[in-house]
Amino acid sequence: ALQIEGMFKSFGEHEVLKGIDLTANTGDVISIIGSSGSGKSTFLRCINLLETPNAGAVHLHGELIKMRSLKDGSQEAADKKQLQRMRTKLAMVFQSFNLWSHLTILENVIEAPIHVLGVSRKEAIERADALLQKVGMFERRDYYPGHISGGQQQRAAIARALAIEPEVLLFDEPTSALDPELVGEVLRVMTDLAEEGRTMLVVTHEMSFAKGVSNQVMFLHQGLVEEFGDPKEIFENPKSERMKQFLQRDF
Ligand code: ATP
Ligand code: MG
Repeated sequence: ALQIEGMFKSFGEHEVLKGIDLTANTGDVISIIGSSGSGKSTFLRCINLLETPNAGAVHLHGELIKMRSLKDGSQEAADKKQLQRMRTKLAMVFQSFNLWSHLTILENVIEAPIHVLGVSRKEAIERADALLQKVGMFERRDYYPGHISGGQQQRAAIARALAIEPEVLLFDEPTSALDPELVGEVLRVMTDLAEEGRTMLVVTHEMSFAKGVSNQVMFLHQGLVEEFGDPKEIFENPKSERMKQFLQRDF
């Protein structure tokens, strides 16, 4: 579904991504783990071109995203229409939820279907209600984000991401901003999505999710893939010293 080749990104002199390849086939759930500063968020942001990579090819469903060079040596999407199309196929869920605070939960979820996909309001609401049921947020659909818990906000943000019917879901530490007692409800929704066969890239510090739910794990260290493979293999039999050290930490 998604293929990344040779992704590089520097901020000034600081080389953050040093050539990362990744193939996510349909139904893959890939956890991306690594220490703070290893480049996990930058990698996700380069994939959906929220960030301008210095080099790298992104293929979505076999289609190469066309790029053009900028003055600073990085690259942006060359074809705005193609970029828009791509953005509707890659949905991102952020650590800080990023719901629109002046819109209700329902309005948050129907916004992109109506304004980006051109779905009618009636149909958008029908679909949104089904998604809100799915994440257990239907009863809170008319609340504003400020009036519900972090776990509820994140579940609503997941419903919003699903509303554009993306091919790939990108999660950047979706549970890191939550109080510990709220982490479980969000992980449960993510586990359901994984079991449904959704294609997901998940940056996470939740090793239980990486081990128990994902089918591939990517361990990043200083902008390089230090280890990649089956979670069982990686967690029980890590090859690199860095991975061993990483696993000894407290999560
Ligand atoms: P964390 O686990 O703390 O979220 P991360 O693995 O997601 O870490 P990134 O946020 O990708 O790490 O950052 C990797 C490096 O790139 C860090 O050294 C960071 O300071 C740097 N960096 C990220 N974004 C920028 C930016 N916009 N400008 C300059 N440096 C940046
Ligand atoms: Mg990060």
